[in-house]
Amino acid sequence: SRPAAPCLPVVGSDTRVPLVDGRTVTYANLDCAASAPALRAVADRVAEVLPLYASVHRGAGYLSQVSTALYEASRRTIGGFVGAREEDVTIITRNTTDSLNLLAGCVPTGPDGEPGRVLVLDVEHHANLLPWQRSDGGATVVVGRESVAATLDALRTELAAAPHALVAITGASNVTGESLPLADVVRIAHDAGARVAVDGAQLVPHRPFSLAATGVDYVSFSGHKTYAPFGAGALVGRRDWLDVGRPYLAGGGAVRQVGIDDVAWAPAPARHEAGSPNVVGAVALAAACDALAALPDGALERHEAVLRERLVTGLEGVPGVEIVRAWADSVDPVAVVTFSVVGHDPGLVAAYLSAEHGIGVRDGRFCAHPLLARLGYDAGAVRASVGVGTTLDEVDRLVGALAAYVAHGPTARYEVVDGCWSV
Ligand code: PMP
Repeated sequence: SRPAAPCLPVVGSDTRVPLVDGRTVTYANLDCAASAPALRAVADRVAEVLPLYASVHRGAGYLSQVSTALYEASRRTIGGFVGAREEDVTIITRNTTDSLNLLAGCVPTGPDGEPGRVLVLDVEHHANLLPWQRSDGGATVVVGRESVAATLDALRTELAAAPHALVAITGASNVTGESLPLADVVRIAHDAGARVAVDGAQLVPHRPFSLAATGVDYVSFSGHKTYAPFGAGALVGRRDWLDVGRPYLAGGGAVRQVGIDDVAWAPAPARHEAGSPNVVGAVALAAACDALAALPDGALERHEAVLRERLVTGLEGVPGVEIVRAWADSVDPVAVVTFSVVGHDPGLVAAYLSAEHGIGVRDGRFCAHPLLARLGYDAGAVRASVGVGTTLDEVDRLVGALAAYVAHGPTARYEVVDGCWSV
């Protein structure tokens, strides 16, 4: 079926934007991988709960109790959305970066007393690379191979060579939409005595995901990529490490008892949620989870598969456009597609798409510098990504605009500074 219409309504889809020639057009947001527009259902829910705003966990007032109940119910919804098991805990964080930094402080030492090492791939977003490199045990970074099978072999070899506490791996690359098969990664890691943390920033908004079904130990994701507003995300996974790991923030709410010289920290999730929490953010994220979970089976995947297919076929038909791939044989990528217009500055291409067609894409190195360097895109590339609100028409506009660019070039001269264009 052709998803001429979005599969869930989002806010802002009729936003008009100015073009360089003075006309205005409806904005085509093809940058959902960076931040996805909020669902209409999420916006409605936020408007509903905003008047019920009061402090959580501490106040005896009626609204404090309502806020606390809303916050804790949201926690359960968010955990349930990613298939949390009985022994899992859901920590409300700010975003994926926050979640991964939090987990990095909780990796335990091994039986030999050595700090736990973490194994990552070089395809990772910096958020799933730098926290581990900075952590006590440090990170082993495995360079991806051309095929999925060879990359899995490389993981197996590294894990056999030295003990690791954790394998931290992307659920879907924010550059190519690709991933390694999670079932294989889990088997390889668990056989070697390591746990698995999935960076779900690009997976959870695009595919049903379940900790219980996959055996993955931890998953992190961001509200603002999951059709909720900025400021709330989650880390969900096995309670034991999180109950005793270094409290992420020190402060009120994270403790059982404080003396002048000592402190008894609370277990997770309170242990890692010091300070007044983002109640509205958690409620909004839970509303997004509910709306995505209520879609008919397979609807999300079908919607995105049709859009991705149209996007990839369209881009392949534009002379000089080259699609970036991490593996020659990866299957079932999410609808995040990075490409370069060979010989053209990606910043200029992105500026042209915005200024002359009202199309929003992202250019640069996507916080994945090691991957872009290995694949030969040190100068960056352009990324188009879709979401539940995207239509085929928007994808066609991008492909048409690129074809016009390749044929005639831009009509104006753009100055691009820090991703912003001017003429
Ligand atoms: N991991 C991946 C795969 C991402 O795409 C992103 C965001 N681009 C992040 C982590 C970081 O997410 P956030 O900025 O919401 O912390």
